[in-house]
Amino acid sequence: MRLALEAMATRFELVIADDADAHRLRASGQEALAEIARAEELWSRFRPTSELAWINAGAGGAPVRVGRETLRLLSRCARFANATEGAFDPTLGPLLRLWRVGETDALARPDPARIAKVLDLVGMQRVEIDEAASTVRLPQQGMQLDLGSIGKGAAVDMALEVLQEHGIRSALLHGGTSSVRSIGMAPGGQPWRVGWRLPGVEEAFPVTLDGVRPALSVSAPHGRRVKAGGDTWGHVIDPRTGEPVPAGSALVCGPCAAACDALSTAVLVLGAAGPPLVAELFPDCEALWHAGPSA
Ligand code: AMP
Ligand code: MG
Repeated sequence: MRLALEAMATRFELVIADDADAHRLRASGQEALAEIARAEELWSRFRPTSELAWINAGAGGAPVRVGRETLRLLSRCARFANATEGAFDPTLGPLLRLWRVGETDALARPDPARIAKVLDLVGMQRVEIDEAASTVRLPQQGMQLDLGSIGKGAAVDMALEVLQEHGIRSALLHGGTSSVRSIGMAPGGQPWRVGWRLPGVEEAFPVTLDGVRPALSVSAPHGRRVKAGGDTWGHVIDPRTGEPVPAGSALVCGPCAAACDALSTAVLVLGAAGPPLVAELFPDCEALWHAGPSA
């Protein structure tokens, strides 16, 4: 059974390969996909009613009350930001705005003084997360969270949990082919296999998903680009320097899609230094990085 959902500016596809009753599978699949829509409601920076938008709108003001899922996701973000020494940092919203990421009418490359000024607004360690009070506060006006690097993975995990609660034993879910998570074995009792496409490389690199590492995420700047005059740049920015990552592809496999998603973005920023860092700090994950052509 195949189901799909357009959400988070991409297409999510779910394959359920279970042999249970088709009506029951469809109902489970639809309930799972509804979780993705709910994740978008919670965490889209572009929806004024999302919890993330409330936090951003309150920057420099009083703490904002949010639900447990948002608190938990932001606490995880803080841990990933800390572990990757800021290569992954979802407070880079002001940098995305400066570089016009996600906008079509790109302007010129920002000048270094403006980049330096905007960098003052970036830093996950400054976000005040109060678990006891269920509040989040961005301490300075102009600060802005963006969960583009982890939201898809977190949504895939939420959907997978619903399928597991319904007793589904074989399924594969992906968002835009960049965040993937599986349950059990593929039809025929084989592990689920996916291909990692690298630009300029003829054959896709085969990756196997199993019970230990059922999730994977890929990041690359060539996916989406901003053009300005003769200049182009990708949508992943190094929050430490404020500069877009020019080239490369990163893949991370692991136990859940959210961790893989955050870490694949970090590995793209870190380059060759990324996989050893993941191996050391996240031994349940495996990271690969490919230099690739420039963006
Ligand atoms: P991904 O495709 O998972 O690597 O996520 C890319 C998206 O994450 C971008 O479109 C931005 O919204 C956001 N982003 C870009 N660079 C970073 C970064 N260094 N840390 C966290 N989020 C980022
Ligand atoms: Mg990512």
